[in-house]
Amino acid sequence: MTTRVGIPRTLAYYSFYPEWQTYLEELGMEVILSPPTTKDVLDMGIRYTVTDACIPIKSFHGHVAALIGSVDYILIPRLVSVDGQATFCPKFLGLPEMVEASVKDLPPLLTPRLDVRDGRFAPMRAWLEVAKSLGVGKCKALSAYRSSLRVGDQYESLLAQGMLPEEAMALAHTWWSSAKNNGTSALPEHETGIPTAKAEPKTKGNTDPNANGSIRLGLVGYPYAIYDKFTSCDLMGNLARLGVRILTPEMVPAKHREAQALKQPKNLFWYYSNQIMRATYYFLEKQLIDGLIHVTAFGCGPDAMVDKLLELDCRKYGRLPFLSLALDEHTGVAGVMTRLEAFVDMLTRRKVMLNES
Ligand code: SF4
Repeated sequence: MTTRVGIPRTLAYYSFYPEWQTYLEELGMEVILSPPTTKDVLDMGIRYTVTDACIPIKSFHGHVAALIGSVDYILIPRLVSVDGQATFCPKFLGLPEMVEASVKDLPPLLTPRLDVRDGRFAPMRAWLEVAKSLGVGKCKALSAYRSSLRVGDQYESLLAQGMLPEEAMALAHTWWSSAKNNGTSALPEHETGIPTAKAEPKTKGNTDPNANGSIRLGLVGYPYAIYDKFTSCDLMGNLARLGVRILTPEMVPAKHREAQALKQPKNLFWYYSNQIMRATYYFLEKQLIDGLIHVTAFGCGPDAMVDKLLELDCRKYGRLPFLSLALDEHTGVAGVMTRLEAFVDMLTRRKVMLNES
């Protein structure tokens, strides 16, 4: 029988799932994803976590619990550093222990430590250890690892075209299947989702096709907060219904985000926080947005600083309107909608006034 490996559909899933899925499938495993977040999943997570944990961590525990009974292993990588500069938030670093200490009846966990500060090849060695514990030899594991990196690159390019994660994941997977079967490896030429003087932003899938596009919003936050439909009270969908065009950090190609690092007075300690700051600098510098929404989780340590820095930067760049939306398990769709509608209304009026003056 094929070994089944479960992956929780939250946190780093939004950044790395295509890589992890490819690696495990190339090793001959069956990958089982936990269901999309629902109230039941979140409630399960709340039972296993301390009250003051942030909602993404509560939700993660619920996703792990939802996999129990249907998988032989659960993959919970210990993400430390993927760029050699910043680390992930301390909760990511201790995730395997947190889960082991609180969730009952767990199957064995696969917990590769991913830290490029230990050397360029350290992540590869960690993944080879995973293969070893699954009984797969080194040659097959090396080939699977190379495949996973290629799929990861494709995924990143698709996000930069303006695709949403789940659409890009499906396409990257299809691309890999056909590349293997037909020996072709080319996706159609990629375009960036970032608008240029000639092109409008391509926000495939995240805006209503009837959107008039008059208001462009930067929607920044950790990927597991902005893209999780339940946790975010379907922010992307609701903004699309309001006829707003959305740009997220993942739509800024990595090299453009990297180039903005120089503008940071100081690099932040946390990987995702840096990505948010750099994408925002890019939006501001290129004057791509009419306003910025920062989605933050109630009780998030890193965001206590990021939220204030974003607010100050928006003020510096022509007093760009800024909205901070804090999410927790008590956040309701109606409350979020009221704030979104008021913000978009204000942006529309402001834009008319600016055009008239
Ligand atoms: S960065 Fe913030 S929201 Fe994300 S896991 Fe850490 S504390 Fe929670």
